[in-house]
Amino acid sequence: MLLLRFGEFTLKGKNRSRFEKTMLRQVKERVRLYPGAKLITEYGRIYVELGGEPAEPLIATLAKVFGIASISPVKVARSELEDIVTNSLRFMEAIAPAPGTTFKVNARRVWKDFPYGSQEMNRLVSGPLLKAFPALTVDVREPELELRVEVRENGTYLFCDNIQAAGGFPLGTNGKAMLLLSGGIDSPVAAWSSMRRGLEVECIHFFSYPYTSREARQKVVDLARVLSGYSGRIRLHLVPFTEIQTSFAGIGQDNLMITLMRRSMLRIATMLAEREGALAIVTGDSLGQVASQTLSSMNVIGRATDLPILRPLVMMDKGEITELAQTIGTYELSILPYEDCCTLFVPRSPTTNPNLRIVERIEATLPGYAQRLDEAVAQTVTVDLTPHGNERPADEEEAAVQQEEWF
Ligand code: ATP
Ligand code: MG
Repeated sequence: MLLLRFGEFTLKGKNRSRFEKTMLRQVKERVRLYPGAKLITEYGRIYVELGGEPAEPLIATLAKVFGIASISPVKVARSELEDIVTNSLRFMEAIAPAPGTTFKVNARRVWKDFPYGSQEMNRLVSGPLLKAFPALTVDVREPELELRVEVRENGTYLFCDNIQAAGGFPLGTNGKAMLLLSGGIDSPVAAWSSMRRGLEVECIHFFSYPYTSREARQKVVDLARVLSGYSGRIRLHLVPFTEIQTSFAGIGQDNLMITLMRRSMLRIATMLAEREGALAIVTGDSLGQVASQTLSSMNVIGRATDLPILRPLVMMDKGEITELAQTIGTYELSILPYEDCCTLFVPRSPTTNPNLRIVERIEATLPGYAQRLDEAVAQTVTVDLTPHGNERPADEEEAAVQQEEWF
């Protein structure tokens, strides 16, 4: 069996049952792909009976479910002393601890009719183990290896190591936000961090075909697919940005180009948020990282929307972000060298201190600006991605086009 432990949301009083239900649904969805496996729920825990299914891929997929703090493989013995000892020996054989490993047995009698108490069980189980593995030494305070023995009426659970899982809040239990997904290192990490706080995210990517390549767009699809490994599925909106971007090119304000582009992105994201029922916009901004991420730039850019902008990475160093990107599996894709629309027509010296009034004046006098934003929203293509690639098109009509265009 696998034992899944819940994360910090167990503290959340009344919300607890809603959170548990959401998480259980996501666990079920993943376990369904392994027909032999069966779920057993218990207060504060979920067990997955393997029923002949392989443990490793199941652990790998379940460790990505937000809300699960840790996973332990469990061996089940009959609740009889002899069988418990035999299985403990087998369990230890499988672990094959290195000589000198410190260890202890930590028994708990949950079933009160079992003839031996917890303390007694510690001795009754550790005795034969020490005899069979003379290289083990006991350390009751800080052992490297702790064999847990839970004696229950229907069987005794033996388990040891906790495999760390994603933790956080079950997906969607803290609402929904739109995430601006570029092909870079930061925004996929921002997506993961948001999802871990229980936010459902829908991704929005702006591309400037033919200035940006199909490969660049595919890269973003692939990144979103990696993210879907954590959420089960993820929605990606692909917004054509060429018209808007080129309309900024001829106005003789090159140093404000990025400011204008970012504000347009936020406006479009706001319209899509309204359509999709999302209440915030998430970006991969990190304070001071580039010209558009100075406090002054964030201030001017942020005023283009009334929605709260969440910046999960705002105080993180690039090194920390990169490390997280490697851990969650997006880094290798992110460093593929395809250009993003923001690297196009980029001025040599983008401003780090834009003036809000000037920016607003430019936008107000740009012919057809509002209409172009509406058009970009109307031409947005939406796809729902899953880790396995068996997409469900968000819109039946678009299905054929998407098949041809995106995959
Ligand atoms: P990243 O590594 O995520 O690309 P970055 O350090 O390159 O971030 P910028 O290019 O300045 O930073 O982008 C800042 C944020 O703006 C990104 O994290 C992302 O949220 C958003 N963004 C930038 N370009 C795009 C795009 N083409 N489509 C959608 N969002 C974008
Ligand atoms: Mg970028």
